[in-house]
Order: sequence, then C-alpha cells, then structure tokens
Amino acid sequence: MREIYLDNSATTRCFPEVAERMSQIYLEAYGNPSSMHHKGVEAEKCLREARKTLAGILKAGEKDLLFTSCGTESDNIAIIGGAEAACRRGRHLITTQIEHPAVLEAMRHLEKQGFEVTYLPVDRLGLVDPETVASAVREDTILVSVMHTNNEIGSVQPVAEIGRRIKEKNPKTLFHVDAVQGFGKAQLFPKRMKIDLLSASGHKIHAPKGIGLLYIAPGVRVLPQIYGGGQQGGLRSGTENVAGIAGMALAAEMLYRDLEGDNARLAAMRDTLRSGLTEIEDVHINGPAGAVETAGAAAPHILSVTVAGVRAEVMLHALEDRGVYVSSGSACSTNHPHPSDTLQAIGASRAALDSTIRMSLSVMNTEEEMAETVAVMRELIPMLRRYTRR
Ligand code: PLP
Repeated sequence: MREIYLDNSATTRCFPEVAERMSQIYLEAYGNPSSMHHKGVEAEKCLREARKTLAGILKAGEKDLLFTSCGTESDNIAIIGGAEAACRRGRHLITTQIEHPAVLEAMRHLEKQGFEVTYLPVDRLGLVDPETVASAVREDTILVSVMHTNNEIGSVQPVAEIGRRIKEKNPKTLFHVDAVQGFGKAQLFPKRMKIDLLSASGHKIHAPKGIGLLYIAPGVRVLPQIYGGGQQGGLRSGTENVAGIAGMALAAEMLYRDLEGDNARLAAMRDTLRSGLTEIEDVHINGPAGAVETAGAAAPHILSVTVAGVRAEVMLHALEDRGVYVSSGSACSTNHPHPSDTLQAIGASRAALDSTIRMSLSVMNTEEEMAETVAVMRELIPMLRRYTRR
C-alpha cells in the first residue's frame, strides 16, 4: 500500500542527502572533536562547517550557536538557564497559553522555584497581540517566551513586532522564541527581530532526531543545565553529536535554498486539502489557515481539521488503514492525554477538542497525495459518522 505521510510536524523523514552525509561521518569522520589528533581535527572541521552554514542562515555569529539534543532541551536551557542567570534582576516571566509543553513545563518548573509566570491569552486564531505582550512587561520581567509557529494550528506570531515592543518597554528583558516549527519555513534573523534566544530542532526539518539548536545573542547570559567536560564553552558539556549537527546544517541549507518556492508549494497543497475537506459537511479548519483575512499569519504546512461527530483517534486509525498518517490534535498527545491547551485557548468547543486531527506537510509531499487524502476522507467520514451515531 502506498504511504501518505502527513505528520511532518511530529517528525520528518530524513533527506537522503542528509542520511548519506551522516553515514559518511559515522563511518569515516568519526573522531571526537575534542581529540588532538587528525581524526579529532577532521570531526572539528565538520562542526565548524555546520556552524558556519547555520550561522549564515540566521545571519548570526558562529559563536552564537549552541548545539543541544532536541528542541525541548533548547527551550529548557533558554528559559531555565536564562531565568537562573537573570534572577537577581527580577523573577517575573511571560509566555502564552499555546506554547509547546517544552516551554510550559519549563515555566511550571520555575514557578515551583518561586518565579512568577504570566500566561497570555490568544485570539480565536491563536494569535497573541503585541500590545498585550508589551503591557504585561514590567521592571522585574526577566524573560518573555513566545513561539514562532504553533505546532497544532499553525498560527505564526508577529515575533519581530513583539521583540520591538518588549525592548521598548524594558531593554533588559530577554526575548526567547521557540522556532521549532518555524525554522526551515520562515526567514528568521534573530538580531534584526530583537530575539535573544531562539530554539530549533533537527528532526522537524528532515535531519535526524537527537539534535537541537539554540541561538544565544552576544552578551546574553544563560546558566548551563548540564555539567561535565566543558564542551561548547562549558555551556553544554557532552561530546557533540557531530553527525547530527552536520545533518541539521545540510537539511537547513537545502530548505533555505528556495524557501519561497517551497513555501508556495506547501501552501498550495495545504489549500487543496482545505478546500477539498471543507466541502465535506461539518468539517472545519481551526486557526489562521481557516480564515482568509489572516493568510499571512498561517504556517504553510499545518492544518488543524475538526470533523464533527468523529473522534480524532477513530479518524486517525481509519486513515492509517488507508495508508494516510496524521496526528490527533498534537503529536505529543500520547504523553499528554489532557485536552489540547492550544485548542482550548482559541475557544474550541468540548466536542471539537475530541474531534480534531492535525495534518502537517513537508516538501516531500505531492499534490496527488492531497487529492487522494481528500478522496479518502470524503469516503470515510460519512461511514464513520454512521458508526459513531449508531
Ligand atoms: N516546540 C515546538 C513548537 C514543537 O512542535 C516541538 C515538537 O513537537 C518542540 C518544541 C520539541 O521539540 P523536540 O521534539 O525536538 O524536543
């Protein structure tokens, strides 16, 4: 049976070029970059080249990049390490109600340590108002964390505007952006956007699992969360994942080669899905992709679809039986069985919380797959509704 993989916000398939490059490192340039002999120097060169590529994409300095094990670790170092380094200046942090658990749980951890956290609401499309952010910033606010692209409904926050407003109100407040879903889809220039800390993850961009990135602006202090041999300037000890780092750099390079072209193709595929699916009775799209007036605030690759009268798990498995892979609400929901924070924050009804699936696309998908997915859903939905209502 052919496979249609529409769960790219959970994880992506590696680009074959990335797997090949990594294999070459595993088998040939396998040295420890801290070793002083030739094999070490060779591995260190791989690291340097990857750093240069990623720094070029972010228009950042090569020294401003910290390699981690995943997006979650990047978010944790940024938020916990950032708060610990700044706690003498204040103990107040701000975030939104629709962040990924990697941010929300780091915030909850800090609350237990005596920090105060403000969780800002979003509108019905999942967008946070820069004015709301600015008015929440106080003299003692040490860090604001706002995600770039929401992983469940694809809302894209106006991070440059938010960055500007934060710094106008309090230049000392650090601005962290979780760009795990935005990196590889949007041009992100932290310096220009007044972003101090920016998280990204390899496995969302056709690189492997086990590699993450944190941009740290020059002069910004964060305290280490892992102690050991002093790699990466002592900020994140542990032998670097050389192959993963090189793989992430190559995947990013490939995605940023023709970002506009790829995004236009992704958005066209998303729109094929949207228009086909909304022709089915009682199917609707959540978030900005469902509202024509906010086209600019919608990620090109994420579609949150509510199928009234069909439980998300039932839809997911029925699609799986037909070779179509999606997720129920958010991919992380197997570990978080409670209703989605994001859908609740945008005011979704109780019934919608149980009946929402997420389809997320990548450059490896095709228009034919979209047409086929719509056809499969058209066939399945009336059948599943009859089954559910019986
Ligand atoms: N932040 C967002 C917005 C995400 O979507 C994810 C993963 O789904 C993460 C953080 C965590 O990234 P990782 O899986 O690399 O830990």
